Amino acid sequence: MAKVAFIGLGVMGFPMAGHLKTKGGHDVTVYNRTAEKAAAWVEKFSGKSAPTPAEAAEGCDFVFVCVGNDDDLRQVSSGENGVLKSMKPGSVLIDNTTASAEVARELYEAAKAKGIDFIDAPVSGGQAGAENGVLTVMCGGDEAAFEKAKPVIDAYARMVGLMGPAGSGQLTKMMNQICIAGIVQGLAEAVHFGKRAGLDIEKVVDVISKGAAGSWQMENRHKTMNQGKYDFGFAVDWMRKDLGIVLAEARSNGAKLPLTALVDQFYGDVQALGGNRWDTSSLLARLER
Ligand code: NAP
Repeated sequence: MAKVAFIGLGVMGFPMAGHLKTKGGHDVTVYNRTAEKAAAWVEKFSGKSAPTPAEAAEGCDFVFVCVGNDDDLRQVSSGENGVLKSMKPGSVLIDNTTASAEVARELYEAAKAKGIDFIDAPVSGGQAGAENGVLTVMCGGDEAAFEKAKPVIDAYARMVGLMGPAGSGQLTKMMNQICIAGIVQGLAEAVHFGKRAGLDIEKVVDVISKGAAGSWQMENRHKTMNQGKYDFGFAVDWMRKDLGIVLAEARSNGAKLPLTALVDQFYGDVQALGGNRWDTSSLLARLER
């Protein structure tokens, strides 16, 4: 059993922190900016909460963070009441936020200067993956720190991999999002085309999903897309944040991402339709305007 803190009890963090307590059996203290959520977590999991990130992290062996973007991450890590203020030498800071590789390298250095290990560890698998404790976790950092943290991370994960030095977890997540952007646009166009052609979408997918066109998105989203329902997971606002990170990284490493840049614009159209909180399969909605 380890002494653990978890900062950020959103859609993802709330159940992940829960698994660290119930499945992992760890001594967990949580912090959330909106105090009501921390109180709800304490009630549900009979854990403890603290009034600031620094107080939650005091004396902990492992500190987890899962907040929104780079600036949020800086605030709760190296800000005035951030966790790096109180974490002890030899402890590990694990960041599950989807953020830039740059902020990961920055925090790795800031942590190292205090004898603390940092692992960037963005996740994929969505809300359902977090609730069921079966996330995929893509890590960047030192091998020794990873080996120490992996058994703890296992409480909410099905797949945990060390991809390389600091920032490599975030770069891996970027590849993941590039793949998703292209696949979802292709699926949206296919469903749009099928409807115009008067085909039975369910029947078509039943057949083509078994062949080379099959994908997780097709399997899990075609039905709801066909019904015009876009309330099933990862929000467009989050996807635009992620694609912004991807495109900035591509500008600095010279990668050409014409399709990703285009799909990013398409998600901008969805936002203009009022779809900020719709799930990513809502690319179909802009074709059907
Ligand atoms: P969310 O439900 O919006 O929760 C965000 C959490 O971060 C909340 O607890 C929020 O506190 C906290 N927070 C944000 N800014 C903060 C700040 N400046 N200081 C302190 N706390 C702050 O988001 P989520 O869906 O859990 O996503 C979290 C991260 O995981 C994001 O980077 C997202 O891209 C990534 N992710 C999400 C999914 C998904 O399906 N949702 C999948 C993979 C990865 P309050 O409660 O006070 O607002």
